[in-house]
Amino acid sequence: MEIERIGIVGAGQMGGGIAHVCALAGYDVLMTDVGQEALDGSLALIRRNLDRAVERGKVVAADRDAALGRIATTMTLSDLGRTDLVIEAATERETIKQAIFEDLVPHLQPHTILTSNTSSISITRLASRTDRPERFMGFHFMNPVPVMQLVELIRGIATDDATFTACKGVVDRLGKQAATAEDFPAFIVNRILMPMINEAVYTLYEGVGTVTSIDTSLRLGANHPMGPLELADFIGLDTCLAIMNVLHDGLADTKYRPCPLLVKYVEAGWLGRKTRRGFYDYRGEGDPTPTR
Ligand code: NAD
Repeated sequence: MEIERIGIVGAGQMGGGIAHVCALAGYDVLMTDVGQEALDGSLALIRRNLDRAVERGKVVAADRDAALGRIATTMTLSDLGRTDLVIEAATERETIKQAIFEDLVPHLQPHTILTSNTSSISITRLASRTDRPERFMGFHFMNPVPVMQLVELIRGIATDDATFTACKGVVDRLGKQAATAEDFPAFIVNRILMPMINEAVYTLYEGVGTVTSIDTSLRLGANHPMGPLELADFIGLDTCLAIMNVLHDGLADTKYRPCPLLVKYVEAGWLGRKTRRGFYDYRGEGDPTPTR
């Protein structure tokens, strides 16, 4: 099946990045969000990121202009009914995602494929609430989308081969690499990554190290490009907590218990870079300063 028009639900850090790469690859993109501000902010960020890519010689100016011309926005979810593929990238909460799919389904064309960029929620369960579980799957990009090469493709129990092949074709056209994961909590990347981040927060909580010593240790001691707390801020602490809760609930193993300090940061609204404060404070002019 030929995919030409892609609908994106949620214009946050992931939705915007997905719109960026899809438009650059020649797809027509229609993006929606519950807030006009999110849509405007996302478009402005895509423009800035594409401008930077042009300055660095990674994208030619004509391709940037064409990509920007292919992205449209709407506040009306049902407008996405005319797309061939929907990528849902709204907040990581199952009730929100279910409500989006329920509202969208009556407006879809029969051939439209539904996907979710969820980091952890069961694809089979999300699919079962729609009229097309066979044309539903997980389409999990990494952050930042324009930079990261991997897309995890997750089949629900009912996903058919044509749907998988069509989604794999999109990943190929985006110039990215697909890895296939089975539909179990948090799939592959976050099943391994999030317990490490959660353990870093426990290490901080128990006073074994400071924010700086923990991040320095993993950067220089394990050759990670970013420390785990820096990375958690980058991902969003609410998203990290949501994924730990899905692992804890879904696998019923206490080793996935979210660290109480992670819960506290989220309760404070210190969600990382997106709120300008998390394990680091990003509000000043200079380098971010540790908050513990
Ligand atoms: P975000 O908080 O930056 O953005 C979420 C956006 O969804 C917000 O703009 C919000 O207004 C919008 N939204 C909420 N309810 C909505 C609704 N009913 N309809 C339309 N829009 C709605 O979050 P994010 O980091 O972009 O994460 C989005 C999804 O991508 C989550 O499922 C997350 O697990 C997944 N994801 C995140 C990362 C990451 O590193 N942050 C990586 C891979 C996947």
